[in-house]
Amino acid sequence: MKKSSHIYLKNLTKEYQEGEKTRKVLDQLNLNVAEGEMIVLLGRSGSGKSTLLNLVSGIDKPDAGEIKIGDTNLGELNEKDRTLFRRKNIGFIFQSFNLISTLTAKENVLLPLKLKGDTDEEAGQKADTFLKEVGLGDRGDSYPDRLSGGEQQRVAIARALAHAPMLILADEPTGNLDYETGATILDMLNKLVRENNRTIILATHDRDICKIADRVLEIRGGTLSPVEDLSEMTGS
Ligand code: ADP
Ligand code: MG
Repeated sequence: MKKSSHIYLKNLTKEYQEGEKTRKVLDQLNLNVAEGEMIVLLGRSGSGKSTLLNLVSGIDKPDAGEIKIGDTNLGELNEKDRTLFRRKNIGFIFQSFNLISTLTAKENVLLPLKLKGDTDEEAGQKADTFLKEVGLGDRGDSYPDRLSGGEQQRVAIARALAHAPMLILADEPTGNLDYETGATILDMLNKLVRENNRTIILATHDRDICKIADRVLEIRGGTLSPVEDLSEMTGS
């Protein structure tokens, strides 16, 4: 059966406890994303962008509501199976990179490939290809603390994409990059979606990114609404 990356979110609710008070970050949020669609998610800092991506990736669990990716209902999986599902199907580009500091750049990219079952040779080739794609072909042996923020972000992007995930979740992936590098990374993501029918949800503050999106949504008050006219945004 063909894997599908169609995403279906129904009545998603997520609350956090703040002392005595409960803060509802997502409030019965609904979203349908078609396979091959590129969604840009805008919203002020603290509006719940990272919370939403963490739920869709299965890193975190909602308090209520349903998350389906293709035929898989994440709510029906235990934590171990959610992790396996994520490794296989999702590429997550974290806001804070989350590189493993004791591994070189190349080893960081290799790790998910090995976990997925690639041979050393296959994994090595893919890692080299993707490090080259993000402009770090000669930095594979460097440890993260020898790389700039932008370089670390690019390693994180190579790591997220190398195992050819059907769904890419990107949390402010260009936030730490200079304009030119950011544009290169976006071109790459855009090409991937268009040529391979991958699905992307990308959270950002950067309105330039909206130009390449199929749909731009704003998260506010715990729900999503379409942004037709960027000049009407509440600011971020
Ligand atoms: P964004 O990514 O849009 O900046 P977040 O999803 O990170 O927003 O956060 C949304 C809200 O939820 C913020 O008010 C944040 O303080 C709160 N929040 C996020 N994660 C936690 C957590 N683990 N515990 C408590 N509050 C959290
Ligand atoms: Mg965030």
